[in-house]
Amino acid sequence: MCGIFGIYAPDRDVARLTYFALFALQHRGQESAGIAVGDGRRITAQKELGLVPQVFDETSLGALAADAVTAIGHCRYSTTGSSRWPNTQPILRHRQGRTVALAHNGNLTNTAELRAELQGRGVKLETTSDTEVIAALICEHPGTLEEGVRYAMGRITGAFSAVVLDGSQIIAFRDPDGIRPLVLGDLDGNPVVASETCALDIVGAAFVCDIEPGQMVILDADGPRVAQAQPTRQSGGAALCIFEFIYFARPDSRMDGVGLHAARVRMGERLATEAPIDADIVIAVPDSGTPAAQGFARASGIPYTDGLVKNRYVGRTFIQPEQRLRDNGLRLKFNPLPDVIAGQRVVVVDDSIVRGTTTRKIVRMLFDAGALEVHLRISSPPIVSPCYYGIDMAAGDELIAADRSSQAVCQLLGATSLAYLSQAGLQASTGQPAERFCRACLTRNYPTPIPDDIRDGGRFRFEAAPVA
Ligand code: SF4
Repeated sequence: MCGIFGIYAPDRDVARLTYFALFALQHRGQESAGIAVGDGRRITAQKELGLVPQVFDETSLGALAADAVTAIGHCRYSTTGSSRWPNTQPILRHRQGRTVALAHNGNLTNTAELRAELQGRGVKLETTSDTEVIAALICEHPGTLEEGVRYAMGRITGAFSAVVLDGSQIIAFRDPDGIRPLVLGDLDGNPVVASETCALDIVGAAFVCDIEPGQMVILDADGPRVAQAQPTRQSGGAALCIFEFIYFARPDSRMDGVGLHAARVRMGERLATEAPIDADIVIAVPDSGTPAAQGFARASGIPYTDGLVKNRYVGRTFIQPEQRLRDNGLRLKFNPLPDVIAGQRVVVVDDSIVRGTTTRKIVRMLFDAGALEVHLRISSPPIVSPCYYGIDMAAGDELIAADRSSQAVCQLLGATSLAYLSQAGLQASTGQPAERFCRACLTRNYPTPIPDDIRDGGRFRFEAAPVA
């Protein structure tokens, strides 16, 4: 996924504001964090593997802050390019004798082709990240930064929301399909861009608008200027990732004018109507399943209670547990409440099932805690195809629902019953038309062409027909 942020504010501590924005966006990427600031002439950056508060402290923020007027920030979740220091962002590169910094959320689908082209022209690439390809295309262009961004946007395909900084100016841009989110805010007259509105809230900025597919926004002394840099895709619609609504984005964020917590509650309500069940309690797989579980309970009249406790600090540990602990890995994350579960017919609500490994362990854990029945209710339709746009879910042949009926999946998971939210139910819960979204992992209809060399790494061909 990744989280990105950018701010132009000559009278503010832009490094500190970027730190707090990244802190709000931490859920979008926990592998590395970085901030680059510009003082009008040069760029200073700090980035490292780890969580935002592990990477930055008062001393490092202080060192970044001097005279800075602009800043961009990034927290990383790796898709293309492994989790190594050289792939941390913002990426720095030279352009016309100056340094530029670039941060990117998404995943390109034509990286290999562009890498080969750039290297064929003698352009040096030092990382395996697709972000470096975007930076190289911008930097190789002989025109202004704005012209370089327009050129790069026309060459790259796939998902990209990005910010590029050249010292005194930031340009934020979003792919013509609008797969990853990007919003514009206003902090006391200073322009701000972020992956999600929760990052605007934490710095005290007001929401201005969603940056539309194919648009760029220039942030500098002349104020924010929005331009349609590339035409939107042919349908004229957008293809925002539906999983931003289902799970990825924070529930307190708003996308396309919709509050995500409320949308997730509606998914649960709808699920209760579509797949009713006679049971004693409703519990969530915390925290991502919680709003839908609350909605399910409200619509079904079955009481909602806590049944699984989540260790909130699990996010990322660099200390590997010893083998026996690892085998019991799920207990590092969830622990059941036997006093609540024992003797009950339990409805467990989760947002999705990918490989099924975690869900199978949760079902086992609940039966071990004394549940009489375990009814799985999933607030999204079955995931049947991989994502090539920045969500590292699983390869096609690892997806438990790719070629199995719900009944077969239920049997594999060891649950008493299993039901998914329907496509129509999901759509109605978002309050938006289906054409607004990418739903490719649910339907096998991708909004952009997927080259054969990346289609499941070239090792898996799923020939099944699209899902209606
Ligand atoms: S394929 Fe699925 S996860 Fe990937 S962008 Fe589309 S909806 Fe989101």
